[in-house]
Amino acid sequence: MKRNTGQDRTITSGWRPATRAIRGGTARSEWGETSEALFLTSGYSYDRAGDAAARFAGEQVGMTYSRLQNPTTEMLEERIALLEGSEACRTTATGMAAMTAALLCQLQAGDHVVAGRAAFGSCRWLTDTLLPKFGIGSTIVDGRDPQQWADAAQANTKLFFFETPANPTMDIVDLKAVCGIARDRGIRTVVDNAFATPALQRPLEWGADITAYSATKMMDGQGRVLAGAVCGTAEFINGELLPFIRNTGPTLAPFNAWVVLKGLETLDLRIRRQSENALKVAAFLERRVPRVNYPGLASHPQHALAMSQMDMAGPIFSLEVAGREQAHALLDALELIDISNNIGDSRSLMTHPASTTHAGVSAETREQMGVGEGLLRLNVGLEDVDDLVDDLGRALDRVGL
Ligand SMILES: *Cc1c(COP(=O)(O)O)cnc(C)c1O
Repeated sequence: MKRNTGQDRTITSGWRPATRAIRGGTARSEWGETSEALFLTSGYSYDRAGDAAARFAGEQVGMTYSRLQNPTTEMLEERIALLEGSEACRTTATGMAAMTAALLCQLQAGDHVVAGRAAFGSCRWLTDTLLPKFGIGSTIVDGRDPQQWADAAQANTKLFFFETPANPTMDIVDLKAVCGIARDRGIRTVVDNAFATPALQRPLEWGADITAYSATKMMDGQGRVLAGAVCGTAEFINGELLPFIRNTGPTLAPFNAWVVLKGLETLDLRIRRQSENALKVAAFLERRVPRVNYPGLASHPQHALAMSQMDMAGPIFSLEVAGREQAHALLDALELIDISNNIGDSRSLMTHPASTTHAGVSAETREQMGVGEGLLRLNVGLEDVDDLVDDLGRALDRVGL
């Protein structure tokens, strides 16, 4: 009988997702602890000088330095890879470190990237500001329209980069169509899957090459730590991403890795309940405000597409009121839901993107992205949904909506 098999793919690949989330990647120490051990160590020691030389030469299995490897972090990487259905995963200190590494490790001067218009503010900064500084061109398209991706592809296009659902407009990209367009042209796709997570959407199954995460959001799920992850083939992760990360150093701290490991154990439960709550809150708001952008609602223009590639629509959506003044007044009238720009938390949080998360992009770019002055983004948490509806109802009454 074989036990402690969380690291053995011949066994874990037979496990269903819920089992992978609890046990995948677990590597027990000599003490047989049930919960994953936290290895807070920067270095490792060797019995003999020859062992150190052999490990550095890659001839002996074992760890050398925690910028390169750490047992707790490797447990998390194996667990995320199992949930994602990817050959390999590498974690990073933040979601933005994951996005930056996923792009820069495979691009060079003269290359070109096509990216979706709606994106996390810092992701737009990467494509619009950072890449051009290094001679890498970028074209921004309306990600909802596959034809725009096809038209924007050039001979030197190396990557398609997008989020779906996208932050904060909830634009949906047709994964099968857009990844197919990329494949036909030898272009790789990098999908920022932070909103859905592998619990609700697995882009690799639709033909994406690489997925990247802010694990700060749903994977931690309780607003505690920052973390990121990149998933793909072993060839890509070990051959292209790893040298970049090991030498530039955006390494995830073992403590944060441990927190996210614990978070993943409840990811499926949390994201399903939060999605149910979000659907109820969105249906309530739809009757009260001019516009609600939630792919789970039948009124969303891409509802059918979203539901064909996602199991549920997730905990996050946006709504539109008259302008900045009314948006701020609505936030100020809330008593339970926090004014906070984080998402993925078990607490309900609401923010005004134009003056917070997207304040760093120009007004013109915000306009192009669909981030208007009256847009609000809501992360629906695990509280009793009736308390959330009561809070929003009261706040809407106060601002006259
Ligand atoms: C939060 C977020 C990021 C950045 O992640 P950090 O962990 O904050 O660095 C990137 N993409 C999306 C879609 C996000 O929501």
